Amino acid sequence: MNAGKPSPKSSFGFTTKVVHHAQDADAETGAVVPTLSLATTYKQDGINQPRGGFEYARAQNPTRAQLEQVLAGLENAQFANAFASGLAALAGLMSLFEPGDHIIAGDDLYGGTVRYFNQVLAKYGITFSYIDTANLNAVERAITPKTKLIYLESPTNPMLRLSDIRAICKLAKARNLLVAVDNTFATPYLQRPLELGADVVLHSSTKYLGGHSDILGGALMTSNALLYEKFAFNQKAVGAVPSPFDCWLLMRSVKTLSLRMERHCENALAIAQFLQQHEAVKKVYYPGLPTHPSHDLAKRQMPNGFGGIVSLDLGGRAEVEAFIKELNIFTFAESLGAVESLVCYPWEMTHVAVPIERRLQLGLTEGLIRLSVGIEDKSDLINELEQALSAVQTAVAS
Ligand SMILES: *Cc1c(COP(=O)(O)O)cnc(C)c1O
Repeated sequence: MNAGKPSPKSSFGFTTKVVHHAQDADAETGAVVPTLSLATTYKQDGINQPRGGFEYARAQNPTRAQLEQVLAGLENAQFANAFASGLAALAGLMSLFEPGDHIIAGDDLYGGTVRYFNQVLAKYGITFSYIDTANLNAVERAITPKTKLIYLESPTNPMLRLSDIRAICKLAKARNLLVAVDNTFATPYLQRPLELGADVVLHSSTKYLGGHSDILGGALMTSNALLYEKFAFNQKAVGAVPSPFDCWLLMRSVKTLSLRMERHCENALAIAQFLQQHEAVKKVYYPGLPTHPSHDLAKRQMPNGFGGIVSLDLGGRAEVEAFIKELNIFTFAESLGAVESLVCYPWEMTHVAVPIERRLQLGLTEGLIRLSVGIEDKSDLINELEQALSAVQTAVAS
């Protein structure tokens, strides 16, 4: 195993791959679990003679190098770079751009992404147009001679809107633009944007890839060697890299990604169907429902399932308060993508920084709740939601 060694494409099925890809038994000891290497510096055999490519741990570390191969394998990429968080990975991606460059970004992105664009990068002269990337004509109209990148999420947070990644990549290729997709919500179990033509995939591995609410991490995956080199330079020059232990934990987590996603999707679909027929629920957002505006695209683009996030609208804040009070298994907390079910209130939590008019335009009302459906027994989850919705009806009636 070498720093920066490209990861071979594997012909295994995805679930075999997440268990085995780049996780062979250790050549020396036979250990079936990766070695955790904590050293920050490495003995060199002479001037300019580092062993195995390792000199200093900010630039590269054996545990991180192995994780990067594991992560590359997930997205069928040649390369991956691991970062200390999803936003650190975003900063690595954005280090490609210069003052004057223009970026087309989705209009329903993760709040921290928009904060980084508007409150950090804008100061350095990079400009952004926020466009509904589900609308190809709108994307095309937004392209200027200075445009360098189209940056999008699909499905989005928390409205679960989809964009046609293949169509956007085709449009971008014709104009020589890069496309980067934040694949945090779907995970490579459901959708692999590089195979649809994207140049870079970004992950917050804090979410599904980690899956247990105990690792902060991020990654960039690409098959473009030039981009990979630039991201590796950013890791070394900026140093927003994960600790070896977090890398090790993430390799452990990834082995159950398929199993977890399968259950997340199964539970989320059952919950979305249950919510849709309940009269206390005004609206349900889930790409797996035939009523979702992009259901056909979802079936094509995410053939293995529709993800673990369900959003619902209860009509108002009082209803949300009554609902949340009744929940036990669903923990009221930010974040998503872990084994335990979580519930969050975007209006006051994740989307406070989004202007109110903009929130309402998106359908992100004061009655909107986002569920990150965990892997518990779905009957328990549905029973609990049923009780909470009864409480809402009682509260509203009184
Ligand atoms: C959480 C999240 C991020 C940011 O990742 P961190 O690991 O919290 O820095 C980026 N994009 C999406 C879609 C996320 O959910």
